[in-house]
Parts: sequence; structure tokens; C-alpha cells
Amino acid sequence: MRVIGLLGGMSWESTAYYYQQLNRGTRDRLGGLHSAACVMHSVDFAEIERLQERGAWEEAGKYLGQRAQQLELAGADCILICTNTMHRVYPAIQASVDVPVLHIADGTATALQGAGVEKVALLGTRYTMEQAFYRDRLVERGFEVMVPEAEERALVHKIIYHELCRGQVLDSSRETYVRIVESLARKGAQAVILGCTEIGLLIDEHSSPLPVFDTTLIHVQTALEWALGA
Ligand code: GLU
Repeated sequence: MRVIGLLGGMSWESTAYYYQQLNRGTRDRLGGLHSAACVMHSVDFAEIERLQERGAWEEAGKYLGQRAQQLELAGADCILICTNTMHRVYPAIQASVDVPVLHIADGTATALQGAGVEKVALLGTRYTMEQAFYRDRLVERGFEVMVPEAEERALVHKIIYHELCRGQVLDSSRETYVRIVESLARKGAQAVILGCTEIGLLIDEHSSPLPVFDTTLIHVQTALEWALGA
């Protein structure tokens, strides 16, 4: 079994979910007492958030690149950056290690293609929804990517940082997200990417008006296929 390296803590609420899903997925595939072979580097998210807020992406890339090196030294055979947003510095992280860093958007694109989706809504932090790094990766794979209106984007972002990353899952925020997804569906979106690793804690295929592509679950799936070959 190959060892999965988790660059986590962004936030730890979703990293805990990654850890649980990796272990459950391994048990489901291999049975018995099998669990995931993994190592984790969990950072202090307050430090990362300050770098994001200042737009200090180079510094953030260096910081996370060093942590990725430590994961490699600890025996990781591949690395997962357990956040969509910090894929903003994916090139710097990948350049700092020899093992593959499995990009969260690539597995998502493959899953969308498999489902025949062409026009997709993207929910995430304002960095993920508004900057090119994530959207372009999907556009390159042939998707039309839709994001909410400015006011709605601000709400989606605020709920992530003020609630979900602090372990608060509120019905009122679920209703807000559902309303936003409904309006994207009216504009022609065929599915929605939960492009923030905490959003799956709030909405899922039962509460969403559109089929959901949960990046946390897809990332875990990608890692398990890579580590177990199954
Ligand atoms: N976990 C979130 C994401 O997937 C947001 C926290 C962060 O900024 O890293 O983007």
C-alpha cells in the first residue's frame, strides 16, 4: 500500500473528514482491519488565512512547499493539498517535492466528464470562484464554469470562513446555499462543484437542487485509486 501524505488543517474541520473518508474507503475496498497508510502535516489555519488576506501567495507557496517536503521525508508517496483554495500555489508545492501532488480539480473534471456535464456551477472561497487558477484548469478540460453573482459570492465566502471552518453548520446557511444553487440552475448549470472542502459538511446530493460533485470525496477517491490501485 502506498502512503498518502495529507497537507491539512485548512481547515481541520475538513481534514478530519478527509482522514475519516480515507480510512473508510480503504476498509471498504480491502475489508477486515485495513486502514489507510497516511501521514499528515496539519498547519495553523490562522497563519494561512492571514497570507491569503494579504495576497501573499508566493510566501504561502514557500510555506506549504516546505511542509510538503516534510511529508515526503516522513514517507509520503503522494501528497494531497486538503483545500481547493491553496491549489492557488499548487505549482510551487509540486516543484518542492519529487512525489506527485494529486490536483483536486483533475479528479473533479474526470468525474464531471464521466457524468456528461458540460456547464457547471462552482462554489468555493472568493479566491477559488474569482481567480483563474481553478476555473482555468476546468475550462482547459472543456467545461463552461459558472459562479454566483458578486453579492452571493461574498455570502458563500463568508459562510465558509465564519461558520464551516469553525465547525458551525447552520440550517439558515444551508438554505442560502440552496437558493444560490437554484439560481445557477435557472441560468443553465447542470451540476454544482462543491469547490471548498468544507461545503460537503453543509450541503449534499439530498439538499442540493443540482447533482453535487464534492471535491473532498473526489480527492479521497483519487488518492485511494492511486494508493491501492482500486
Ligand atoms: N477548505 C477550503 C477550500 O477548500 C477553504 C479554506 C482555505 O482557504 O483553504 O478552499
